[in-house]
This record gives sequence, structure tokens and C-alpha cells, in this order.
Amino acid sequence: MSAACALAEAGLRVQLVERRGYLGGRASSYLHPGLNEVIDNCQHVLFGCCTNLLGFYHRVGVADRIHWTSEMTMIEPGGRRSPLGSSKLAGIELPAPLHGLPKLLSAHAFSLADKLALARAFSALMRPVPANSRESLDTWLKRNGQTRGAIERFWRLVIASALNADLDSIAMPYAAKVIRELFMNSAFAGSMGMSTVPLSQLYAGVTPLVEASDGCVHLNTFTEGAEWDEAAAQWRLRTRSGEIVSDYLVFALPFEATAQLLKSMPGATGKPDLERKIEHQEHWPICSVHLWFDREITELEHAVLLDREIHWLYNQSSLQRRGGHYVELVVSATRAFAALTREEAIRQALTELAEFFPAVADAKLEKVALVKEVRATFGVPPGIDEWRPHAASPWPNCFLAGDWVATGWPSTMESAARSGHLAAESLCRSMGDQRRFLEPDLKPEGIMKFLKTAFGS
Ligand SMILES: Cc1cc2nc3c(=O)[nH]c(=O)nc-3n(C[C@H](O)[C@H](O)[C@H](O)COP(=O)(O)OP(=O)(O)OC[C@H]3O[C@@H](n4cnc5c(N)ncnc54)[C@H](O)[C@@H]3O)c2cc1C
Repeated sequence: MSAACALAEAGLRVQLVERRGYLGGRASSYLHPGLNEVIDNCQHVLFGCCTNLLGFYHRVGVADRIHWTSEMTMIEPGGRRSPLGSSKLAGIELPAPLHGLPKLLSAHAFSLADKLALARAFSALMRPVPANSRESLDTWLKRNGQTRGAIERFWRLVIASALNADLDSIAMPYAAKVIRELFMNSAFAGSMGMSTVPLSQLYAGVTPLVEASDGCVHLNTFTEGAEWDEAAAQWRLRTRSGEIVSDYLVFALPFEATAQLLKSMPGATGKPDLERKIEHQEHWPICSVHLWFDREITELEHAVLLDREIHWLYNQSSLQRRGGHYVELVVSATRAFAALTREEAIRQALTELAEFFPAVADAKLEKVALVKEVRATFGVPPGIDEWRPHAASPWPNCFLAGDWVATGWPSTMESAARSGHLAAESLCRSMGDQRRFLEPDLKPEGIMKFLKTAFGS
């Protein structure tokens, strides 16, 4: 969608082809048939540093549908809370990366030894981690003397779950990127954004924008393959609903769907290499449990839940301003939870939730949905950058996008938006048009600004 909108805005006639009956892919919402409720496929959060996603939201006119917060409340079983986030001293925000320090130092969730360990880790990360480092986060944490509390309650919960993988399956450059963007570069870079409307409503502006340039959105249209017509210098896209002819193609699919499509693509130098790259990709699951109660169980908008399988709570009634008492629990980076039956998963989620919010014990559960996304995100293990392809494909006038291509970002909406902007730039370049679509990164602030100058990264 980001490539389509950028190119349509540049005046190209774009045909956007989607196999489903709605736009948004993994970041979408739909009417749950059994519940008669619209639910997000899963809560999706963004951060201030997601400049390309925000660029896309601005382009389709929905940037004002994002609710921003710099607060994060950690809760221990039993209910003790530790608010994290940026602080002001005498009304003035502390310079980055110190803005989050006062709350971290006063957090009950961490012992003194944990806090010292975290301070040590943050200072070490003020120096950039080389992009080609093959160290895993797990090894780095051991090498940097992290305590059990810091590992379990910060690194595993916040960082590994943001990257949705086990600690030993995360490349250190990606972990460092998340830490620097979310906690060090600036207070705004780390502030968290959540949609105030169901996710698919964010894409309502896509079709009008594409149509304004005489383009078209084809829903319920499954792409099966494509042939290059050398004489006409055009692509013939084969879909289950007929053929679409175009001068250029952008494939913006998850890696499995790309692999499937490759089987029907013409032979080309570079095709076996692309197939090999895809073989190195691996998916990780995310589960979400959607619960409707007969009463409010918490006044919080969202929370980080410590020491249990359920990790994140989002109060959808308050975030999306909808009636009822609807909360969503997100369980990331755990294959064990994803393997539970529906009944087991819901029972475990409810039992654990009651440990954080006593009101759950007296509340009546009115509706419940469990969404298991087995192929939620791709992993970023050490060495993964070697296997993420760039926008140029093995074929003429054909470009690759999707969160898994080489953007330097982990599996996120930002990576997807970036990949679309990069593909749109490559496409324009191949027409001799040097137009840029990639939004610049946010500049680090405070002390981080000087470190960037000193270290060049
Ligand atoms: C449960 C879950 C939670 C997540 N949480 C977050 C989060 O909090 N923050 C965040 O930033 N990211 C999150 N993500 C990741 C985010 O959803 C993805 O990184 C992003 O949506 C990827 O976008 P994409 O366009 O690359 O791929 P997709 O969203 O997968 O889009 C690909 C599209 O191609 C279509 N398609 C596939 N095959 C064909 C075909 N043959 N013909 C036609 N169309 C086809 C699909 O239907 C889909 O619409 C989460 C993902 C999941 C699943």
C-alpha cells in the first residue's frame, strides 16, 4: 500500500492487487463472525521513530487517528506497578538518553543490581554495534553482566517480545536498534502510538488516492504468476480473476507467498539466489486473546505484564473509544502458548490476568476470541541481513517489497512502509526519475546527537 500510494501520488496509474476482500494484510481488522465485533488481527503499535509508516499515514490522511503516549506501566503479579517513560525536571525534559532514567531508577520491578546492570548495558549501547556483528542478544547480555531480573523483566519481555523471538535468535544490531530508538535517541522516538480506530479503517484513503490517478484496487484477486512480454516490454500478471497487463510490477508479499509466486515466474539469472534467500527466512508466532467483560477491570490504557505468559494488555474500549469493557492480551515470542488448545489458552490467560487485576475474579466474561498468528513476523537471527533481498528483482521492471526485504528494520509496519517507499524509488529510477519517497530517520537528540557525530552512527 505504501508503494502504491507513493506512486499514485507521483502520477502513475497504479493497479493494486490483493487476494483478500480488504486491505491491510497482517495489520488489518475484520468482523469476527462468531462475536459480531470488529477486532484487529492483533494490536499493532508503532513508535515515533517509524517515520515511513507515519509518512504513509499522512499520505492517506489518518495520522491524526494515532494516540501517542510516552508512559508504560509494568505490573508484577500481585498488582504492584512501575511506571516507565520520560520525565521532566523542573518542567524541563532531561536530555536524551537520560529522559527515561528517573523512572527506571525508581521502578519497583527492578532490584538495585538489575538497575545497575541495565545502566551498564545502556552505556555500552551508546557506542554503535557494528552492522555486520554476528553476535546474538543472548551472548551479548551474558558478556555484559546482565542479572536474571534485568533479563527476564526487561530484555526478554520488552526487547525480545518487540522483536518477537528468543534471545538467542536475535542479532545484536537489531536489538541495539530497538534499544536506541525506543529508549535512547529521543523521547519522541520512543513514544508509543496506537490506532484509535480498528486497523482497516486506517486504509480507507488508499483506494481514493489510487483512483485519483486513474488507478484501480482489485480485491479478492489472487496473483498466480507473471510473464514478461519482451516485444511489448510489459508484464502479464496472471490472477485467478483474469490477466492484468502493466509496465512495472512491485511484489509486496510475505516471504512464503513470494516463494510460491517464484515457482511460476520466468527463469532468470538471480532467481535461484532469491529462492535461497527466502529459504533462510523463518516465521515466529504471536497470539492475542480478546476479552469482553461485564465491567471495567482496569483504568489503564495499556500495561506490560511481568513474569507470566501474557505480556501486553491493551484496553481497547478506552483506546478505540468503543462501548463495553474490551481488553486485548498479546502473547509474543512463545511457541508454547501458540501450541495450546483454544480452551487451554483462554483459561491460562484469564488465570494470569486475575493475578494482575483482582477485578477479573468478580467480572463476568461476556465474549472471548483467540487469534493465533503462526506466521506473524519474520525472525532477525545473526547474519540475517545477508539473506534479505533488495528492491531490485531478477526480472526487468519488477521490484520487491514487504517487511522482510532489506530495510534494516525488524518485522514491523515501519519495515513494510519503508520497503514500499524503497521499491517505489527503484521503480522511478528505472524510468530515469530520481524522485525520493523514503522519509528521513528522526535525528537523535541531547547527548545522543553528539555521540552520533562522534561515532558517525
Ligand atoms: C499478530 C501480529 C502482531 C503484530 N504486531 C505488530 C506491531 O505491534 N507493530 C508492528 O509494527 N508490526 C507488527 N506486526 C507485523 C506487521 O503486521 C507486519 O510487519 C506488516 O503488516 C507487514 O506488511 P507487509 O505489507 O510486508 O505484509 P502483509 O501485511 O502480510 O501484506 C501482504 C499482502 O499480500 C496479500 N497477498 C499474499 N499473497 C497474495 C497473492 N498471491 N495475491 C494477491 N495478494 C496476496 C496478503 O493478503 C496481504 O494483504 C504484527 C504482525 C502480526 C501478525
